[in-house]
Amino acid sequence: MINRQRLTEQFISLVRIDSLTRQERKMADALLKKLKDMGLEPYEDGTGSKIGGDAGNVICYVKGEKQKPALLLMAHMDTVVPGISKNPIIDGDIIKTDGTTVLGGDDAAGIAVILETVKSLLEDKTPFADLYLVFTVAEESGLFGARNLDLSRIPADYAIILDEGGDIGTAAVKAPHYNRFKVTFIGKAAHAGVEPEKGLSAIMMASKAIADMPHFGRIDEESTSNIGIIKGGQVRNIVCDTCEIEGEVRSVSEEKINRYTDEILDHFKRVSEKMGGTVKIELEKMYPGFDIKESDDIISLLKEASDATDIPLKLQATGGGSDTNIINGAGIPAINISVGMANVHSTNEYIRISDMEKACRFLTAIIKAAYGRNKS
Ligand SMILES: [Zn+2]
Repeated sequence: MINRQRLTEQFISLVRIDSLTRQERKMADALLKKLKDMGLEPYEDGTGSKIGGDAGNVICYVKGEKQKPALLLMAHMDTVVPGISKNPIIDGDIIKTDGTTVLGGDDAAGIAVILETVKSLLEDKTPFADLYLVFTVAEESGLFGARNLDLSRIPADYAIILDEGGDIGTAAVKAPHYNRFKVTFIGKAAHAGVEPEKGLSAIMMASKAIADMPHFGRIDEESTSNIGIIKGGQVRNIVCDTCEIEGEVRSVSEEKINRYTDEILDHFKRVSEKMGGTVKIELEKMYPGFDIKESDDIISLLKEASDATDIPLKLQATGGGSDTNIINGAGIPAINISVGMANVHSTNEYIRISDMEKACRFLTAIIKAAYGRNKS
């Protein structure tokens, strides 16, 4: 049985652990211990040293019925700033912050729900298919834990990521591809009062380039772009010779993200050339998008779980990226389901205990639905 008290205590204990991105050591140690205490054999992979962090992904195989489709259950260990010395406050059904930090329900709630669900399955001796539990590092800074996972050791048929907000039953089945870029405009320095005509202002170049960017903000129904950072200049009386901008493009359509990104970067190049300067472009294709169709098998598992629990299913698109993008990109059908986290990445973050309980029931029903199938 899902145990509300145990779930609450688990969540509180996880939230109290400092676990900023690339500083997940304490969280990884705590999870390794918690899983061992459950009689399981978790291990940690070598991602930490590859990405400049102090911990790797924590992975745990839970042996089940081999003939049934195996499930990968996943949540991330890292939290955003301000996230040191989090002090959760229980207020009736709500757990909130003291207003000075995030709560870190993103994604401690995902971890707590996975642990409570597996505990309850083992206790009740409920039969299930093979389960792979994966708790990733460095999700928040660009999905680096998931990107470094060795999926050859995780032969799952479907993946359920627990890292969404909204009513329980909400599932993200569509998410954009994501590109980010850094563009450095290079001009020429000169004294701004004595001989400005000998200089070429990189700030002016960047301004003109951004001002008539071909795509900005909401581009179309499934695509967006932004310039989020602009840096340049050192003192007021020197014509600025370098100006750096950082931006991003997202689209659910792969064809569109490629086209929009090319058009934006070409535009920057043209503007700088026209003004007699140069430009240095660094483009990173960060992660692929995904678009799960309603007829896909993984959705039928969710529908069955929804019917069994009376929790309405709400399939929706998300504009953000998550570990779900990486797992789908690697060929394992993956969806991201809500654990009830609210106002994430803010000091007003909160979560309802009843929502986490409900998420445990929903996840249990998904696991039971998978057990009801044969491996295809
Ligand atoms: Zn998250």
